[in-house]
Amino acid sequence: MTNAILVLNAGSSSLKFAVYPEKDDDKGALLRGQIAGIGTQPTFSARDAAGNSAPQGDFAKMDDAVGSDTVIAMLMEWLNSYLGDVKIKAAGHRVVHGGRQFKGPALVTDALIAQLAELIPLAPIHQEQNLNAIACVAASAPDLMQVVCFDTSFHQTQHPLAKMFALPRDLTEEGVIRYGFHGLSYEYIASVLPKHIEDKANGRVIVAHLGSGASMCALKEGRSAATSMGFTTLDGLVMGRRCGAIDPGVLLYLMQSKGMGATEIENLLYRESGLFGVSGISNDMGVLETSTDPHAREAIDLFCFRAARELTALVTSIGGLDALVFTAGIGENSAMVRAGICAHLEWMGVEIAADENAQNAVRISPQGAKIDVLVIPTDEEAVIARATHALTNC
Ligand code: ADP
Repeated sequence: MTNAILVLNAGSSSLKFAVYPEKDDDKGALLRGQIAGIGTQPTFSARDAAGNSAPQGDFAKMDDAVGSDTVIAMLMEWLNSYLGDVKIKAAGHRVVHGGRQFKGPALVTDALIAQLAELIPLAPIHQEQNLNAIACVAASAPDLMQVVCFDTSFHQTQHPLAKMFALPRDLTEEGVIRYGFHGLSYEYIASVLPKHIEDKANGRVIVAHLGSGASMCALKEGRSAATSMGFTTLDGLVMGRRCGAIDPGVLLYLMQSKGMGATEIENLLYRESGLFGVSGISNDMGVLETSTDPHAREAIDLFCFRAARELTALVTSIGGLDALVFTAGIGENSAMVRAGICAHLEWMGVEIAADENAQNAVRISPQGAKIDVLVIPTDEEAVIARATHALTNC
């Protein structure tokens, strides 16, 4: 019998999972998959280490109305039967917000869950789903050890100035600061950078995590020096459905002149804005790229322009730029977006080679370029598996 670690990344409408062999995540996952479209039209897909599709089992009969609790219970059963002799000994979860308290991964206890639940208002589209996944796993497998890994932890190394808002001091002391997110992705990229750019990995690097949620992180000596997301996951870049940085005066206007309440504004900022709001078509970059509607083009142009502006602000925090890394769904796959962002950065010496960019090659800057531009697939699940091994000794 072999032991394994289950990694879960529970989002608002999707559940990503991976299974890693015990004590050796360097070999990679035994299995990876996701259930997408939860709450609308759920679909299941999974592949083993060789890239073969795994059978769907009961997921083939999934009802459209199936909720995330049922999906997790089904997944635990499906894994038991699919994995056969491989026994899951521990589960590791991505949790978006660790607040100020959690500087690294932690074992799940009732007290810890209560502390994390207090952070739900700071990550309304993520934290609750993350915690719910832990509860659902515990319901299906009460004896399983569970570990949480936070998107905020990687940014603990930032200088206090990078974290402060210019607000009255008592609010800062209460914890109204920039936390930063996507830390598990940045930790993974920082860990593999030396393989790609050797000594420059210790230099000044910007990583652009461009997925449904999008942010950038300025790395110096492989550590987070600054990031575009802030107190919540709303700040910074234009995202699929989130607006990114906005003049806070707009929020006052919405409240005072349009009579909007907190719930309505939350919905507007988290779910109706970004690529979706600007295009009026979709939050999906792939869809917008193929659309002929001028609003789709404008949404992509705004995404690229705002990303370049955030990047130049972040460069100040690390005193220059040696390498730029694109990652996550859009960063890894969209040649159009990478070219669009880099076109705004030519003045600072960022160049890309059209052919390599079109092929999503690992290195897309031309030979001899001053700034290395790379495309590196992220692997948050590997980081979670490693931390879960370390804390549970599984
Ligand atoms: P998340 O994990 O935050 O849900 P992903 O990292 O999977 O997000 O990124 C999702 C985004 O990546 C979507 O906007 C999707 O359109 C985009 N994407 C994925 N593949 C492509 C592609 N080939 N071309 C353009 N965009 C793509």
